[in-house]
Amino acid sequence: MIYADNAATTAMSPAAVAAMLPFLSENYGNPSSLYSFGQKAKEALEAARATFAENLGCTPREIYFTSGGSESDNQALMTLASLGERKGKKHIISTAFEHHAVLRSLDRLKKRGFEVTLLDVGPRGIVTAGEVEDAIRPDTCFVSVMYANNEIGTVQPVREIGAVCRERGVYFHTDAVQAGGHLHIDVEADNIDMLSLSAHKFHGPKGVGVLFARKNIVPECIILGGAQERGKRAGTENVGGIAAAAAAFAEMCARIDENAKALTALRDRLIEGLKRIPYSALNGDPVMRLPSNVNFCFEGIEGESLLLLLDDKGICASSGSACTSGSLDPSHVLLAIGRPREVAHGSLRLSLGEDMTESDTDRITDAVREAVEYLRAMSPFWHDLESGKRKHVFTERGE
Ligand SMILES: *Cc1c(COP(=O)(O)O)cnc(C)c1O
Repeated sequence: MIYADNAATTAMSPAAVAAMLPFLSENYGNPSSLYSFGQKAKEALEAARATFAENLGCTPREIYFTSGGSESDNQALMTLASLGERKGKKHIISTAFEHHAVLRSLDRLKKRGFEVTLLDVGPRGIVTAGEVEDAIRPDTCFVSVMYANNEIGTVQPVREIGAVCRERGVYFHTDAVQAGGHLHIDVEADNIDMLSLSAHKFHGPKGVGVLFARKNIVPECIILGGAQERGKRAGTENVGGIAAAAAAFAEMCARIDENAKALTALRDRLIEGLKRIPYSALNGDPVMRLPSNVNFCFEGIEGESLLLLLDDKGICASSGSACTSGSLDPSHVLLAIGRPREVAHGSLRLSLGEDMTESDTDRITDAVREAVEYLRAMSPFWHDLESGKRKHVFTERGE
């Protein structure tokens, strides 16, 4: 099997598994207990907090553990909205291609009376700091722009956007779930006030999230109960999961440059191979993208059918995102970069892993080419394109 869906989730690293196991068996104490057995768990929790702080450039007190990227995004947006509301500021700026964890939170905030400006991301899938600046109003309370997009992998100019927000006195949150452990993040240099991470996207376990909140920001509780996480997130901590998340994060952060170099070479080889398929196009900027991300549209095919054929050939990939596959709507991200609906339906996301080789990517290229040809040969829609009854969106050689 070739697993090319690392943007959906990753395998836990052996170091992460090893860090987790003791807390599932012998060290099962509750970190809130006062006896020394519980304190062992508490120490592991604080060591994990220090690891995240060190690798993000903040203090341990600014790190909170949650149940995942979605919860971190929800809590960040609710916190910043409430801070704004207290000052009478009820305007929010975000983008059209955020993860649904952000978009659905914004929907909730709209019902609470907030006004939301969703910036266009343009055909390259990138928002500029200038566009953010132009959208800031006297009543803007915060900006939320993702670090890297989960479907098309485009990396946003977060540092510049953060600088604009700082200068204009507006809070800045970034959903860094796809960037964490893969790109260098420094919350100080990047001018970030709140940031979300999810462990299962960097070889940690599922169900563990990190929320960074700058020291002047007190996170608003969205899970109510006990006084865990300094009273900001109730619920007995997932000690093993958090210890594993920290081990995975430390390991990935230490290897960012070496992983990025190897993955970028594989990514570009794969892109070159797939580009040779007629009437296809790469989605998102070719350079400002995650080293692991390849996303294509192929005219005249259905992404779901392509996935099934690739599955038969032992290749795991994705079309749209895991959250929207299962629905018939084309990806909101591909629509946001201006892909027509019929083309957006024919998309393929391949997200590479650190253990991949050139022979894997070459096998993927061959398998995709064969599958696309096969599907087109059977498609009445493709037939109409070939006979000139319908117009092509791409040229034979690409866009
Ligand atoms: C996966 C993902 C999330 C959600 O994280 P979970 O831990 O699965 O809740 C949020 N944002 C982005 C960009 C993601 O890729």
